[in-house]
Amino acid sequence: MNETGIASRKRTWAGAMRAVAVVAAVAAGAAGIGPAAVPAQAQGRGLPIIRDTEIENLLRDYATPILRAAGLAKQNIKVVLLNDRTFNAFVMDGRHIFINAGALFDAKTPNEVIGVLAHETGHLAGGHLMRLREELARAQTASIAALLLGVGAAVAGARAGSGGGDILGPAIMAPQQAIQRSLLSYVRTQEDQADHAGVKFLNATHQSPRGMVELFKRLASESLYQSRYVDPYLQTHPMPAERVANLEQIAKASPYWNAKDSPELQLRHDLMRAKLSGFLERPDTVARRFPASDRSLPARYARAISAYRHADLRTALAQIDGLIETQPGNPYFYELKGQALLESGRAKDAVAPLRRAAQLSRSAPLIDTMLAQALIGTNSSAVAGEAITLLKSAIQRDSDISDAYGQLAMAYGRKGDLAEADLASAQAAAARGDIMTARQLAARAKTRLPVGSPAWVRADDITNLKPPQTGAFRK
Ligand SMILES: [Zn+2]
Repeated sequence: MNETGIASRKRTWAGAMRAVAVVAAVAAGAAGIGPAAVPAQAQGRGLPIIRDTEIENLLRDYATPILRAAGLAKQNIKVVLLNDRTFNAFVMDGRHIFINAGALFDAKTPNEVIGVLAHETGHLAGGHLMRLREELARAQTASIAALLLGVGAAVAGARAGSGGGDILGPAIMAPQQAIQRSLLSYVRTQEDQADHAGVKFLNATHQSPRGMVELFKRLASESLYQSRYVDPYLQTHPMPAERVANLEQIAKASPYWNAKDSPELQLRHDLMRAKLSGFLERPDTVARRFPASDRSLPARYARAISAYRHADLRTALAQIDGLIETQPGNPYFYELKGQALLESGRAKDAVAPLRRAAQLSRSAPLIDTMLAQALIGTNSSAVAGEAITLLKSAIQRDSDISDAYGQLAMAYGRKGDLAEADLASAQAAAARGDIMTARQLAARAKTRLPVGSPAWVRADDITNLKPPQTGAFRK
């Protein structure tokens, strides 16, 4: 069941929604903190990244026009989804915008998410990360992350408390007051700049800044009533009344203030939120949120996912078939069916729906990988070659599929190609940050490969990998 190569690791969501602890690639780039601090779990253990074709495609459709308007189209910036229920979005390098599943879940319209992405793009376009780092280096503070969180909390606390615009709450009345005060004003300047830039990008793409304003207002007012709990977004994006008022003023001047998301986009958004609920929430919560009387497609989607995760396969399959009947061209319904079958140990039955999903999604790398997994699961050496072709192509197009190399190793194993199996296992180990194992496996692969062949060279590269210096990227 579900041999994804990360089975031994703790994960909250499985299968098509794979919570992957990304070790090297992303975390190593997190050198310190940006306009948003690195969340606790990101430090050292890797971020709990969720991979899902449907959601990633939607987020890319949200982000692409904004990034283009910001002149960042060529930077290949990706929106990365994190398995975290709190509301948060942040940047910590120049290549990724991170957004929590909780933020997508709380955003009622595409426009609200697009507004958040526009604001974060404002930080990227303004080079805020670099400048804030310089500022922090100047401040020479030992515990910078804690300090910044303190500043955010103080702002939220001061606003919730006095409401009189006095931003100097008790949390920052510390010995390093002067430094903190200058940092605070620095952060606030960057927030204002990101707001302005965000509205500019929204206007350039003929989209309304209304979602951004309403979302920020909602977040700010929620924190008023729940002062014991503040979303991480508010801690790193302090929202004093003045900032929200400024934003509202420039936003309302937009000629696109009343522009609406298309019904098609809203439906995709609702399906995404339903999917998150189905995978992330308890069955009773899903049942309450989407009662059987709700016959909408998103409600049926959420219930079908919840059924496959928590009830019996027969019930789930009947519900998924109903979804397919309603939208026969939707690749993700076939993907869900294949995943449900695969994870129930019915790899052979999973192949056909996954083939359809791969075809309809024009060979999305994650779906190709799951199809390969089903093919390998049939235990037939006849389809091992097809699985290898699928996996190699998926890896080439998407280097962050956590279990692709593990699957590749299994496929080569089925074929009896031990040298390539060792090499793929070495690559799998390297990808999860286990450099010692990677080097051992690569060394063994080298003894089985013709000296100087491309595979031998790849194995040789791995034997020369250096173990990461633990904690090197933490500040
Ligand atoms: Zn910000």
